Amino acid sequence: MSTSDVDGLCENLEGCKLDAEKKISDEELFKQPPLEDCPICFLRMPLFNTGIKYRSCCGKMICSGCCFAPVYDDRGNKVDNQKCPFCRAPHPRTEEEAVEMLMGRFEVNDPLAIYNHGNYCRDGKCGYSQDYKKALELWHRAAELGYAVAYNNIGYAYYNGKGVKVDKEKAGYYYELSAMGGNVRARYNLGAKEEEQGNKDRALKHHMVAARSGLSESVKKIQMLYSDGHVTKDDYMKALRLYQEYLSEIKSVQRDKAAAYSDRFRYY
Ligand SMILES: [Zn+2]
Ligand SMILES: [Zn+2]
Repeated sequence: MSTSDVDGLCENLEGCKLDAEKKISDEELFKQPPLEDCPICFLRMPLFNTGIKYRSCCGKMICSGCCFAPVYDDRGNKVDNQKCPFCRAPHPRTEEEAVEMLMGRFEVNDPLAIYNHGNYCRDGKCGYSQDYKKALELWHRAAELGYAVAYNNIGYAYYNGKGVKVDKEKAGYYYELSAMGGNVRARYNLGAKEEEQGNKDRALKHHMVAARSGLSESVKKIQMLYSDGHVTKDDYMKALRLYQEYLSEIKSVQRDKAAAYSDRFRYY
């Protein structure tokens, strides 16, 4: 496989309409992405990675509180909670079973399963040979089906020349798509990049969006920008207020119980 084969990948992939002419407007870029709710308790999903679990049985993201809560059958009897609280399928017992379940999700076009499959191809893991071209193809599919984290992997590939030629402009474009789709890590990195380039006002805008989405690191960044005299006290107070708003939306007794039981369920 030559580099030029891979270079044409993006243009050739169906549904991927990367158009250098089409610049993302600031209005689109700095819009607050929608925040997700848990499908069981309907409370806002925590951002913290142990506060949310993916279930490869039904493809649902479920909050730590609902994963920890006991499961009851139709007659109200408590059942063994080695079962998915959403679809009640038994949890996989081995890594092989987990991979098999994930492949089942892959068959039904679950974007997260497609994304993970892409990661296996990138790493040459779980029985897949290393194939960056295939990984990029799968991440495009996952991203277009709504899993915005996948755009970040594509951005990283362009930034570092992994399976494609280095193209920092394209990398930036994919990082922006990822942030707009709600990936706060991509948002944080965009803020850091703007700060490095001396664009403190744009850095502030990115960190403000991330603060509302629950990223405490971005609140700290805004605090530092305030200490260094780059942003006003009002901006810093606003960031704190937005982060508090997020916290008030994610807190629940059930999630607190889960977090007190184990760090595996920490949610903020
Ligand atoms: Zn929940
Ligand atoms: Zn399930």
